Amino acid sequence: MQNLLDFNLPLLTDWLASQGEKPFRARQVFHWIHQRGEADFAQMTDLAKSLREKLMALAEVRAPAVLADRTSADGTRKWLFDVGIGNGIETVFIPEGTPGCSDADADEDSSRYRGTASPDDVARYRGTLCISSQVGCALECTFCSTGRQGFNRNLTTAEIIGQLWHAVRELKKAGWGERPVTNVVMMGMGEPLANFENVVTALDVMLDDHAYGLSRRRVTVSTSGIVPAMDRLAERCPVALAVSLHAPDDELRNEIVPINRKYPLKELLAACRRYLEHAPRDFITFEYVMLAGVNDTPEHARQLAGLVKDTPCKFNLIPFNPFPDSGYDKSRAEAQRIFREILQQAGYVVTTRKTRGDDIDAACGQLAGQVADKTGRVIKRLERSVA
Ligand code: SAH
Ligand code: SF4
Repeated sequence: MQNLLDFNLPLLTDWLASQGEKPFRARQVFHWIHQRGEADFAQMTDLAKSLREKLMALAEVRAPAVLADRTSADGTRKWLFDVGIGNGIETVFIPEGTPGCSDADADEDSSRYRGTASPDDVARYRGTLCISSQVGCALECTFCSTGRQGFNRNLTTAEIIGQLWHAVRELKKAGWGERPVTNVVMMGMGEPLANFENVVTALDVMLDDHAYGLSRRRVTVSTSGIVPAMDRLAERCPVALAVSLHAPDDELRNEIVPINRKYPLKELLAACRRYLEHAPRDFITFEYVMLAGVNDTPEHARQLAGLVKDTPCKFNLIPFNPFPDSGYDKSRAEAQRIFREILQQAGYVVTTRKTRGDDIDAACGQLAGQVADKTGRVIKRLERSVA
């Protein structure tokens, strides 16, 4: 059986052509699958009966099976998907504002939502889906629970786009409107650029107007800094880029983000500047996880400000998500405040990631905590953690 979630539009067109079908049929099928969320070929009523029968015999639309589905008190929703013996991957939906209202980050790309904007007193809407790209991760960042679990395998395109397909379908049913997901961040489990082909094929589908039609500016790949793959992404599918910096010098970064030994900061920052020549946004987002006493002193902040002075960027400070035996602690509020102010005084825009869905362990970076656990344990832990 061919899973049609494995295809972007060109691949689906080729596959249907090999079955003797014309290109416009691919657009129709794509529309049914991704815009209507339809998995049953019998329901695709504007397709010729002969094509429906062919699809029923040869193909399927199959997202990974759902092991758990939890909604937090603050509206954050998390799915745990089954990706094989004992492994789960997680996907998190983070809503902000009121569905039907345009996004706070209004730009030319959001004009399609503006028509539905409501009175000013209603908060503007943004629905962000945080997607996983691998089962586990080989890069072994020391503060990351996914990295601690080791690498299991790459997700297929169907498993990556299946997370969005399933979420959109369920959220529409739950009354989140026709476009419940406005933004995607590849910040779940795994290193997206280490699973390049499957990730970019999934990105194609996210961006395709015949599917989800997301703006390039609202789809963000987060990488720990695989330099050659950043260049390939710039050529193949430039979307917004977030880079996990986490340290202001090579010595510390070698220790906590070991891929730095292969691609040190000077090369990484040069790759960021090259990326900006193609990027849909004119800055890179630097992620910086705040680890008490490790990378969060005023001196670290000053060094950091100097390090990136030639690279147009914004900072996103991430409160550390503790997990058992991590060996790290969250930065104190005061340390975070001073760190942020030093960067701001140096002229940088700094955001601090809000902690959402705490009651269901849904914060990014926390997702992997349960990856390599046996399925039973994962579900028990999820159940315990739900309000
Ligand atoms: N592999 C990619 C994307 C997935 S991780 C990357 O490393 O960028 C998404 C973000 O969560 C990264 O910035 C990562 O460093 C951060 N992260 C990992 N573990 C975390 C933890 N325990 N607490 C807070 N952030 C964490
Ligand atoms: Fe992998 Fe990213 Fe975790 Fe590092 S932070 S181990 S790259 S998932």
